[in-house]
Amino acid sequence: MQPSKTPLLTHDVIAQRVGELADTIARDYADKDLLLLLVLKGALVFGSDLMRRLPGRVAVDFVRARSYTGPNSSGQVRLLYTPSAPLADRHVLLVEDILDTGRTASFLQQHLHGYQLGSLRLVTLLDKPSRRENELTADYTGFTIDNQFVVGYGLDYEEAHRELPAIHVLDNGAVK
Ligand code: 5GP
Ligand code: MG
Repeated sequence: MQPSKTPLLTHDVIAQRVGELADTIARDYADKDLLLLLVLKGALVFGSDLMRRLPGRVAVDFVRARSYTGPNSSGQVRLLYTPSAPLADRHVLLVEDILDTGRTASFLQQHLHGYQLGSLRLVTLLDKPSRRENELTADYTGFTIDNQFVVGYGLDYEEAHRELPAIHVLDNGAVK
């Protein structure tokens, strides 16, 4: 599987947009202590770039859920890891790599509602709204993309390609 030279979103385009998202988020949370809750593993790269573009105090923790077993969602969501930090009264921003059917993020939102948070919002780098099976929308979205399977910048196909700096379309098992 060879990555082609023409990514869907180049690293520069992503970096520019992450900066814009960080500016907006920084304004919205100017008077609050923010806790970024990164959804492992896909949001690892986006989340670590985002946190470094945010001024001031930012706490980070992780949550892990799995709903995905290949190019098509399996439908079930399981929680594999929950945050270690106390979440009561915290202003939590859930950080997702991509919204597809919306099942994972909506499952996590429902789970987090049990923690008496100060507030809960959702940021996603990518959104595939044409695939949505519920009413979920993100509070902050990096890019809206067509219904195609993408890898790179933290997103994998069977644990491969996360390390690519740009986002590429995966077509018939090959990175385009
Ligand atoms: P959802 O629950 O919204 O259907 O799926 C969300 C999860 O499925 C994402 O966090 C991601 O792990 C995976 N996923 C959905 N679409 C894609 C895609 O185009 N590429 C990759 N690599 N993962 C995807
Ligand atoms: Mg994911």
